[in-house]
Amino acid sequence: MPQNILKTEAALTLNAAARALDAPARLAALRKTLSGRIVFTTSFGLEDQAITHMIAAAGLDIAFATLDTGRLFPETYALWQETEARYAIRIAAFAPAAPSVETLIRAQGINGFYKTVEARKACCGVRKVVPLARALEGAAGWITGLRADQSEHRGALDFVSHDAARGLIKLNPIFDWTRERALAFTQAENVPVSPLHAAGFHSIGCAPCTRALLPGEPERAGRWWWEDEAQKECGLHVGADGGLTRANPAPSQAASPSQAPSPRATP
Ligand code: SF4
Repeated sequence: MPQNILKTEAALTLNAAARALDAPARLAALRKTLSGRIVFTTSFGLEDQAITHMIAAAGLDIAFATLDTGRLFPETYALWQETEARYAIRIAAFAPAAPSVETLIRAQGINGFYKTVEARKACCGVRKVVPLARALEGAAGWITGLRADQSEHRGALDFVSHDAARGLIKLNPIFDWTRERALAFTQAENVPVSPLHAAGFHSIGCAPCTRALLPGEPERAGRWWWEDEAQKECGLHVGADGGLTRANPAPSQAASPSQAPSPRATP
């Protein structure tokens, strides 16, 4: 039977089983099912910190990786170090290729991603999508911290899927969690989290492309806030899952970078 059909069947079986399991058991089930390398990509957000805790606490043979875009918040680098120390783990950095970054900046300027959607996607491509491909190269499994209620589009995903484009099985172990549950978990387990969350940042990405939420805004409104909702996509979760887009404020609510509050402004 072709490999892709076997992987699809394995994903379906795991997905059905996942519904009856808690998050740590979902991680353990993926590890038990797959014989190859499994990678957890963390961006050090609340959900990712909870998953890091679960993997480390269970001692699962799962590799940690992060995309060091070169534009992260100082708080993120500090949390990276703190997390490694707390769990005695190494979180591998996957950085963009220097010549590609140099070419990008020559073409669009140091903050050229504000100018057009195409320029922003080019930046995400160089700094995130290409490094992610290296992080997942040869992996059998990929773990992410996606939650269903982060956006309408994410709600259409599931616990486990076969990412045919990357040739791996993808698990979202806290897919059915709320943000409140993730927060309660990190507090109960004394998991280190970013101080930016307390300042109104819910979803934390690159510093120039992330701002704190304003009252009543949806969870991911602080990402690429100057863009039209339909255009938002960094490319990390596109593939066999389909074209995943992200929930953001209505265009009428969005501000241009020059009009918007400082990325560090609290709501
Ligand atoms: S989030 Fe912003 S800075 Fe980061 S890679 Fe994408 S466009 Fe570039």
